[in-house]
Amino acid sequence: MNGGGTIQGLADAITNRSVRAVDALEQHLERIGAPAAMDLNCFRQVHAQEARAAARAIDERLDAGQQVGPLAGVPIGVKDNIATRLGSTACGSRFLENYQSPFTATAAQRLIDAGAVLIGRTNCDEFAMGSSTEHSAFGPTHNPWAHGYVPGGSSGGSAAAVAAGLCPGALGSDTGGSIRQPAAFCGIVGVKPSYGRVSRYGLVAFGSSLDQIGPMTRTVTDAALLLGVIAGPDPHDSTCAHEPVPDYVALLDGPPDQPLRVGVANQYRQGNHPAVNAALEEAIEVFRSTGARIVDIDLPRADDGIATYYVIAPAEASSNLARYDGVRFGRRATPEPNDGLLDLYEKSRAEGFGPEVQRRIMLGTYVLSAGYYDAYYRTALKARRLIRDDYDRAFQECDVLLGPTAPTTAFPLGDRQDPLAMYLGDIYTVNANIAGICGISLPAGLADIDGHRLPLGIQLQCPAFDEVTMLRAARLFEAQTDHGAAMPELCAP
Ligand code: GLN
Repeated sequence: MNGGGTIQGLADAITNRSVRAVDALEQHLERIGAPAAMDLNCFRQVHAQEARAAARAIDERLDAGQQVGPLAGVPIGVKDNIATRLGSTACGSRFLENYQSPFTATAAQRLIDAGAVLIGRTNCDEFAMGSSTEHSAFGPTHNPWAHGYVPGGSSGGSAAAVAAGLCPGALGSDTGGSIRQPAAFCGIVGVKPSYGRVSRYGLVAFGSSLDQIGPMTRTVTDAALLLGVIAGPDPHDSTCAHEPVPDYVALLDGPPDQPLRVGVANQYRQGNHPAVNAALEEAIEVFRSTGARIVDIDLPRADDGIATYYVIAPAEASSNLARYDGVRFGRRATPEPNDGLLDLYEKSRAEGFGPEVQRRIMLGTYVLSAGYYDAYYRTALKARRLIRDDYDRAFQECDVLLGPTAPTTAFPLGDRQDPLAMYLGDIYTVNANIAGICGISLPAGLADIDGHRLPLGIQLQCPAFDEVTMLRAARLFEAQTDHGAAMPELCAP
């Protein structure tokens, strides 16, 4: 099986009529339907008929000499927690298994308006809570590089689909790393935009002060292209910033005005798998070779991120998930409980939510409860401020922070049963969400681990709304290395 075309390449080929959108779509549908790809469980739902109609419409527009958008005819996957009118928006949950959204999320609608063909909904951890996609009610997704290994999470379906060449790009969501970490585990590019850069309208809320939708692609250029399409103000989301959206693709290349100052924190080197540290050292050398100045940075609060995140995110989740009561949304317990409203709530929620979601709701209601609010929630908000201060100080000394995306590579399915062990793997990603800054994960080579070749990722972080500097630094790295070109050999398990 071969794939690996880029969004830009395919959009150009379709726009200049060397490839028909319908043929490009059929090729992708064929790849998705191949047994080895089906075994990965990347898609929860594929919208073949609707996608065919959309691709035909693009070809007809081109035949008629009409304008098409920058994503004309390109098949894109959408994470299952981003509402679209196509099929059901299940959020990886039994609770919303049959939920048909009456509207389409702004980010997804902007893809459609730019000519993209939404090909299907990608698997994810239930309500985006997790780091491995094992918490999906629809079964885990496998890592295309090693069957039986996790693809990361929670946007594991999107990452695995792009890595396996089933679609050249996908949308993910990132509350504490769910775009960047699966991108690292699957060897692709994943961008968490600054908080407010992309509308959250239609993204099923997890931690509203942390959530962002972002692109998952094979190249930095494609990420810049998708981000440019989905970013920008939205009257439906008052937290979406009014900042103008630069032309990210046009600004990608070209020499920097001044040598790039790349900051590396001591805290980024502790407790990593040796292969992760080796990839970081290699990345430092790559940047040095481009004339960048490497700056030592101290982020004294970096290690407090996990504790802070795992108070704030569950607190917000417990409030956001209160709406799933078996009355207005989603699943109602069967047989229908007849012992009063409370009974209906309790039974519907017990049936509909999986164990990780229940754990988050309990944790969140606990830290928000009257007796513990000051001890946990208010303390976490203070820690959030301090983590932001760390970044503010760091970005006076450097333009971009370089570190690993995750302390390990992908791990075998079922390997992290202890929730805390799973949470600790988010150490390098949660702080960007806590501070509202932007981050990107880039392919950084392959490691031979336990008989498998597993991708490594490095992360770049920049100040809020400085995606241009981040993407330019990412492109610089990508241009010096060939790591993103590697693709897994798919074969049935
Ligand atoms: N792994 C983190 C969590 O479980 C982040 C999830 C996300 O970014 N959606 O909460």
